[in-house]
Amino acid sequence: MTVRTRIAPSPTGDPHVGTAYVALFNLCFARQHGGQFILRIEDTDQTRSTPESEQDILRALRWLGLDWDEGPDVGGPHGPYRQSERKDSYRQYAMDLIEKGHAFYCFRTPEELDVIREERKAQGLNPGIKGDLELPAEEVQRRLEAGEPYVIRMKVPDEGTCVINDMLRGTIEIDWSQVDCQILLKSDGMPTYHLANVVDDHEMAITHVLRGEEWINSAPKHKLLYEYFGWDMPELCHLPLLRNPDKSKLSKRKNPTSINFYERMGFLPEAVINYLGRMGWSMPDEREKFSINEMIENFDIQRVSLGGPIFDVEKLRWLNGLWLREDISDDEFVERLRGWWFNEDALRALIPHVKGRADVFSDVAPMAAFMVSGMLELTPEQFAHNKLEEGQVKRVLQFALWRLEAQRHWSKENIFADIKELAKAMDLKMGEFMFPIFVAIAGTPNSWSVMDSMALLGPDMTRARLRHALNALGGFSKKETKKVEKEFAAL
Ligand code: GLU
Repeated sequence: MTVRTRIAPSPTGDPHVGTAYVALFNLCFARQHGGQFILRIEDTDQTRSTPESEQDILRALRWLGLDWDEGPDVGGPHGPYRQSERKDSYRQYAMDLIEKGHAFYCFRTPEELDVIREERKAQGLNPGIKGDLELPAEEVQRRLEAGEPYVIRMKVPDEGTCVINDMLRGTIEIDWSQVDCQILLKSDGMPTYHLANVVDDHEMAITHVLRGEEWINSAPKHKLLYEYFGWDMPELCHLPLLRNPDKSKLSKRKNPTSINFYERMGFLPEAVINYLGRMGWSMPDEREKFSINEMIENFDIQRVSLGGPIFDVEKLRWLNGLWLREDISDDEFVERLRGWWFNEDALRALIPHVKGRADVFSDVAPMAAFMVSGMLELTPEQFAHNKLEEGQVKRVLQFALWRLEAQRHWSKENIFADIKELAKAMDLKMGEFMFPIFVAIAGTPNSWSVMDSMALLGPDMTRARLRHALNALGGFSKKETKKVEKEFAAL
């Protein structure tokens, strides 16, 4: 048997460090067994998936040095590797399950389902959606002929326990009463994650599924689907989730989670990969610095420890420093620095802004330093403004941050539109609203158009600086945050 593993990102946002972490472990496991590592795009959520996000994810994983043997960009014998292009086959599989009596048509509206959940709760039952929703065959036929919208759900047992084997956790038991009759095919004809994932893992001959522990609860549904189809199930291995230093689940609200941010900050891909390799895993000799090839040579999945690994940017920085000093020659240093941000394209992008403001070249570096910096040194005094109280300054930063976190298409025009709308909603003049933004982004209110700066700095660096500025002002307490969230929602 050839070991085949995969990473299956959904292209619905920034390339997440958690995706790179899981990809790395899948790659090491496959390579160590002389097997193959596949990349599959799970874009069945048509409203949230975008081609830009897909491109971004592929590019970021490549930047890190992760290489896949088969995927949407490199092809392979089991393609297409994008689920939206495999749409037709899923429907057929769902119909097969209906024929075999393992799935049923469901015509209930979300409102009806809510009522059913409440009723079940009142009876002391688990409020899950169960197979008793199935209608008599004639009724189904009548509704289908009438063209009523429907979904297809899988049947699951009402009681008993499902036993899952996990390579790291041994056996995991989950009560069937906890498991819903999962939708397999949505009313738009697209499969859900569960159906598409199982079908593709089978068709792509995946032998081992290494994925984040947030998927453990899906495992019973998947196991049942494999049984219904009569297929062998891949071995499962649920990796521990990455955590913030305060042990909470790694989230972009607290830490930059986009790989793009680390690239923009000037981290070395070798160091980022090295650090991800240390998330719950260690070398047999416990050494901290190692390359991806050394990791592959020494890989042993059983060395993964389940205590939540902490993703600490300071620690990563320290490791990056080691790499930079010990492994990058002077020539390479020059080369990498150029490639990073001291290159022709980056300089050209600055010309329209610096040319009109500089008299001599030596003026350029001070005025452009913020464009090539990480986090700026900020003090609360810098944010003092005669028209804005501190509470307003913090709100401007917080609201701008939340607003820009939701911005999917990063461009000067869209940033401008977001900001303008917020300023209006907060009843502030544009100049007043922009003051804290300038200080957060450029460290001074006297820079060139901050919209241009934000567009060039990119979403991740922009958000990180806004967050950093908020922190420099002491941020909001938990209680205040609740209040401010409400205000934001009401804008
Ligand atoms: N598309 C899922 C994700 O976004 C894949 C989960 C899995 O590996 O099964 O993480």
